[in-house]
Amino acid sequence: MGEDSERSAHPPEVVALVVAAGRGARFGAGPPKQYRRLGGEPLLRHSLALFATHPAVARVRAVIHPDDRALYAAAAAGLPLLDPVAGGATRQESVRLGLESLAALAPAPGRVLIHDAARPLVAAETVSRVLAALAGEAGAIPAIPARDTLKRVEGGRVAATLAREGLWLAQTPQGFRFPEILAAHRRLAGEGGFTDDAAVAEAAGLAVAVVAGAAENIKVTDEEDLARAERILAACASLEVRTGLGFDVHRFGPGRMVRLCGIEIPFERALLGHSDADVGLHALTDAILGALAAGDIGSHFPPEEDAWRSADSAIFLRHAAGLVAGRGGRILNLDVTLVCERPRIGPHRRAMAERIAAIARVPADAVGVKATTTEGLGFAGRGEGIAAQAVATLALPPRR
Ligand code: MG
Repeated sequence: MGEDSERSAHPPEVVALVVAAGRGARFGAGPPKQYRRLGGEPLLRHSLALFATHPAVARVRAVIHPDDRALYAAAAAGLPLLDPVAGGATRQESVRLGLESLAALAPAPGRVLIHDAARPLVAAETVSRVLAALAGEAGAIPAIPARDTLKRVEGGRVAATLAREGLWLAQTPQGFRFPEILAAHRRLAGEGGFTDDAAVAEAAGLAVAVVAGAAENIKVTDEEDLARAERILAACASLEVRTGLGFDVHRFGPGRMVRLCGIEIPFERALLGHSDADVGLHALTDAILGALAAGDIGSHFPPEEDAWRSADSAIFLRHAAGLVAGRGGRILNLDVTLVCERPRIGPHRRAMAERIAAIARVPADAVGVKATTTEGLGFAGRGEGIAAQAVATLALPPRR
């Protein structure tokens, strides 16, 4: 599979393979862990549903234990999935059998995401990061850096201390170009006792990139993990989603440059105001403050205070974003519309979105920047000033 096919009009499709064939020896009596209840649903259903609804994933197949057909049918009911296939005696063998079944599809997948059903809390963003890295790599895995000091323990005593530098904890889904990982699994079948697919890829000489994993993407191996997964799920479910609206106008005056959404645009006029008059950042700041029900930009930065004279409006937006972080919340998205006949906004939209993202510390793909004219009508149409409207959506933890 060459780079060219990745760039073609129809990129090879992505198939997710969810490995759920294990017996879960560390769980007590009852059904295998992947069929235990989490958030009222079988644990396996969480990841199946995530992949089945991810826009970049075309098809999903589970690898299951032959004894679990009835449990699987109940867990997968109503989800658009390929028929499951039976796994083998080890995880490695189960993955290989799953890959062989995908090779028989027409068309065979271009890329495959191999996921452990024991990680029910994987987020769509993690899947997207793995796929983005796969555009230029044979393999990519999510991982988080080891934060605790690692000890080798023998007989209840510390035998050695490992240097933590450069050590990462691997998660799933692990993504690969399909032909390469299939060949690697075929070549190493029955060998090695590899505990993840990146190890199989590594043994076969494939390069594997690392992208940011997520602390919530835990592996459920025992009852304690299941209780922790319940707590993480409950915390997510109780997040309060808030929306706020911002609106601002500044008039034109003499000058040679306007600053809009943090970007300086040469122009034959300037916007007048107490600060740098960045109407876009002001509307965004008010949108966030509105979602927090925390007043408006004027109550946080009174225009009668000299400190804010000619101030960079990035200060205001950063302050509002800081209030969200201070509440333990997060900005889900920001969207702003600039209303003016001139200057032209289009050439600067991308830079504006990136600048807003950097100030508010959100991903650039969570920032929308748009522009419109008023077809010559009103103050904006007459070129007397620029208006901006903005919306912010926040996720806040529940109040105690
Ligand atoms: Mg203003």
